[in-house]
Amino acid sequence: MTRMIRIFDTTLRDGEQSPGASMNVEEKVMVAKQLARLGVDIIEAGFAYSSPGDFEAVRRIAQEVEGPTICSLARARPEDIDRAWEALKGAPKVRIHTFLSTSDIHLKHQFRMTREEAKKRAVEMVQRARGYVDDVEFSPMDASRSDAAYLYEVIEAVISAGAGTVNIPDTVGYAIPQEFGKLIRGIREHVPNSGKAVISVHCHNDLGLAVANSLAAVIEGAGQVECTINGIGERAGNTSLEEIAMGLRTRKDLYQADTKIHTEEISKTSRLVSKITGMVVQPNKAIVGANAFAHTSGIHQDGLLKDKTTYEIMRPESIGLVESKMVMGKLSGRHAFRQRLEELGYKLTDEEINHAFDRFKKLADHKKEIYEEDLEVIVSEELAKMADRITLKSFSVKSGTDQVPTATVELEVEGKAISQTGTGDGPVDAVYRTIAAITQTKSKLLMYVVKAITGGTDAQGEVSVRVQEDGRTVSGHGADTDIITASARAYLSALNKLANLAAKQAQGEQKVNLI
Ligand code: MN
Repeated sequence: MTRMIRIFDTTLRDGEQSPGASMNVEEKVMVAKQLARLGVDIIEAGFAYSSPGDFEAVRRIAQEVEGPTICSLARARPEDIDRAWEALKGAPKVRIHTFLSTSDIHLKHQFRMTREEAKKRAVEMVQRARGYVDDVEFSPMDASRSDAAYLYEVIEAVISAGAGTVNIPDTVGYAIPQEFGKLIRGIREHVPNSGKAVISVHCHNDLGLAVANSLAAVIEGAGQVECTINGIGERAGNTSLEEIAMGLRTRKDLYQADTKIHTEEISKTSRLVSKITGMVVQPNKAIVGANAFAHTSGIHQDGLLKDKTTYEIMRPESIGLVESKMVMGKLSGRHAFRQRLEELGYKLTDEEINHAFDRFKKLADHKKEIYEEDLEVIVSEELAKMADRITLKSFSVKSGTDQVPTATVELEVEGKAISQTGTGDGPVDAVYRTIAAITQTKSKLLMYVVKAITGGTDAQGEVSVRVQEDGRTVSGHGADTDIITASARAYLSALNKLANLAAKQAQGEQKVNLI
C-alpha cells in the first residue's frame, strides 16, 4: 500500500533565512498561493513573534490562502505561542509549531536549562498551544546530537501533552542517511505512544545529504518531510521539495510512498521563488536546473528519439516544462487578461488587475507576442511593488560612443516626486548613480545579472541585483523589453526591500537561532 507523506513547506520561514532572500508581505502571499496550487499540505508562513512584518505575512496567508494548513513557528515561550495564535486565529486550518533544544550542548550553553526543566517547558508550551488550536507540532531542536534516551522521554511527554506531529530536525546538517534513518526507527521503537503522532523530519544540506537523509527517514516510517522550493535556506539550504516529490513519485515502487504534490506546478513554483528571492538555481540542479532534462550526448539523443524511456527516467512535462506558448497580444482586453491570469492560477483583486493590466498594455506596445512567463513576471512585480515606498515615475538616458552617459530620473518617494540628473560610466551606471543620489542610499551593489525571459530580440530582459547595507543583504528584480528600465526597476525593488528590512529591525525583530 502506498503511504501518503505530508509535505511541510518552509520556504517562507527557513528559506527566507538565507542571506539576501528576504521577501515582503505581498511577495510572501504570492509564493503561498503558488504553494497551495502546488499542493503542499502545510505552509510554514513565518515566525509571527519575530517582527510586525512576519506577523502580518502569517496573518494574511492564513486569511487568504485556501487549501493547505497554515503554520507559524514559535519558540517555547508563552509570548511566542500567544502571538502565533493571534496571527492565525479565524483561519480554517492552522497549526502552531513550537520548538526547544534537547541536546546537552544547546541546553547548557544557550538555554542554561537542565534536562528536567527543558522537558517541563516543552510540555507546558505544547499544552498552551493546544489551548488555542488542535494541530500542534513540536521540534526537539538539535535532535540528532541529543542523548537518545532523553530524546525519547521528551517526545513521549509532548505527544501525551497533545502534539500531533513531532519533527526531528538535523539542525546543523551533521547526520548521514543510515544514521538518521536509525534515529527515526529508534523513536518509533522506543517511544510507546509514537504511533499517536506523525513523525516529521527537517534536514539541512551542509554535507549535501538533506534529501538523502529525509528519504532514509521516510523508509523508516517518517510521515512528514519539511522542505523548501529549490532547497533554499540557511547555509547550504534545506531539503529540496522538488527532489523529494519527484524522488518518491519516480521510485514509488521502492518507497511505497508518495505525496499529494501536483508535480506539473514544480517548474513554475521554482521560477517564482528564484525570481522573488534572487536565489539563482544552478543549471545542473536536479529536477529544476536549466540542464536537468537536456540530453547532449549523441548516444543518449539517438536513444531518446527512438524511445523516450531509453534514457529519460522522468518526463519534462511531469514538472510542467512545456514549450512557451503565446498567450496574449496587443489587442487583448482587460476581460481576456483577467481570464488568462485566472487560468494561470492568479486570482487578483480589481485594484491589482488595474496595476497589472496597465503594465501589460505597455509591454504589448513593444512586444508582439506575450508568453505565460511574461505574465508571471508582470503579476509578481506589480503585486510586490504595491507596498513600495519609492517608485519610478520616469527616466531618460543619453549614451553613445562620443558622449558622457547622462541620466535624468524622476522618482516618487512616499508620494513626493523628486527629479535629478547625473552621469556615469554607461547608461545603467548613470541611472543607478542618479537613483542613489535621490534616495541617498549608502548601500553597495554586490551583483548585477541580466537574462532574457523568453526567446527573440523583443524578449523582456530580467535584471537581478543584490544590494548590501549595514550587514543587510537583499535582492531585487525587474523586467522590461528595455534593459535599462528593467535595471532601474530591479535596483528600486532592492532599495525598497532594504528600507523594509531596516524598519523591521528598528521595530525590534527577534534575532534567534531557529531550527
Ligand atoms: Mn532549519
